[in-house]
Amino acid sequence: MTKRLYYDSSEVHEFDSVVEDVAPVSSAQSRPAVILRETAFYPTSGGQVHDTGWLTLGEHGEDDARLRVAEVAEAEDGRIVHYLEAPPRLPLAGAAVHGIIDPERRRDHMQQHTGQHVLSAAFIELYQMPTVSFHMGEDYCSIDLAAPSVGSEQIAKAEKRANQIVFENRPVQIRYVSRAEAEKLGLRKLPPAERDELRLIEVADFDLSACGGTHVSASGQIGSILLRKTEKVRQGTRVEFVCGDRAVRMARRDYSALSEAAALFSAQLWDVPDQIRKSVEESKLLRKQKDDALDQLAELMALAALQNQPETNGPKIIVRAFSDRDIGFAKLFAQKVTRAATPAIALVASTVDPPGLVFAQTPSQTLAQASGGALGSTADMGALLKQVLSSVGGRGGGSRDFAQGGVPAGSHINVEQLLRQAAVTIGA
Ligand SMILES: [Zn+2]
Repeated sequence: MTKRLYYDSSEVHEFDSVVEDVAPVSSAQSRPAVILRETAFYPTSGGQVHDTGWLTLGEHGEDDARLRVAEVAEAEDGRIVHYLEAPPRLPLAGAAVHGIIDPERRRDHMQQHTGQHVLSAAFIELYQMPTVSFHMGEDYCSIDLAAPSVGSEQIAKAEKRANQIVFENRPVQIRYVSRAEAEKLGLRKLPPAERDELRLIEVADFDLSACGGTHVSASGQIGSILLRKTEKVRQGTRVEFVCGDRAVRMARRDYSALSEAAALFSAQLWDVPDQIRKSVEESKLLRKQKDDALDQLAELMALAALQNQPETNGPKIIVRAFSDRDIGFAKLFAQKVTRAATPAIALVASTVDPPGLVFAQTPSQTLAQASGGALGSTADMGALLKQVLSSVGGRGGGSRDFAQGGVPAGSHINVEQLLRQAAVTIGA
């Protein structure tokens, strides 16, 4: 088992050690790894992510090499594995190394992790909601509370209480006790029985729990605790939070986004939600007005087209290509033509990119009656569309009375030509 220097102090950022084992690249592992006699590198465990840093080989001599420690993991046998990122060379077992962990990343993890202890304890103190798991991500952290829901007022109160503990700058101490002692101490969370000796983290007169992670030495160093969104999860409610520098960064990012939104509305920050609500309502209304207007326009154009078409024995055939309206309007126009009182066939296209075609007819039954059965077998809109599109590699289809399709965008296929072809096919 590797001796863990971070157990006694989270402030140990540099250390000397000796290489115990080296695992070269293998089929199972794409990066080489080294195991040291002792290490200050924290391995991913207990919800906290690993440290990163460097290992320096040699006694500051000419063959000094700096190896990047990209990931640190805990093996089942308790040894800590340092994965190296493309090292120029690998050390040999027995070689002396000097380790340096990335202090900023460590500081951040200490803030998040201690913040989690305080926050979990606050949820217990205020609402008896125990934390069942903790996750530390790259952007934010989260705890899962064994509670079906957590209200926004509870979130605000827990945040306030947790920050009060931060402001009081209470000492955070590490203690080692036997399992029997720990059971008597009333820990917030007792780990499953594995070891005889337990490492306890105590936030003075507020929280006592068993933990192997890295923590700050006084609660003030957490800086601040900012609660974010809550979400229902299988085991209860997930509460996202950020501490210290992350809290400031996130608040800064939110502020920038909100400021930008406010500037767009020429409004104050706090008026943005109202402005958005108003805007959404307005665009809904405008969309409705536009749809109504297009509907009326299509109706009038359809009636005019039918009127201008001379009477014949069969249905009136309306052929129209729109160069200034999209396929949605072409479809609407075709529907209006075929739902009017006069039996009709609409062969309609939009040449607006991507070009499309709509073939429709007054429902077959009505049409067959109107044409005295003459068009009953030929006017199948789906088949007709497939036929004209197959010659140009277009795609589409539909039923006997309504079919829609398109030609590849930017293909320069003349859809008006396709309409004429279709009209000739049905004998227009
Ligand atoms: Zn902890």
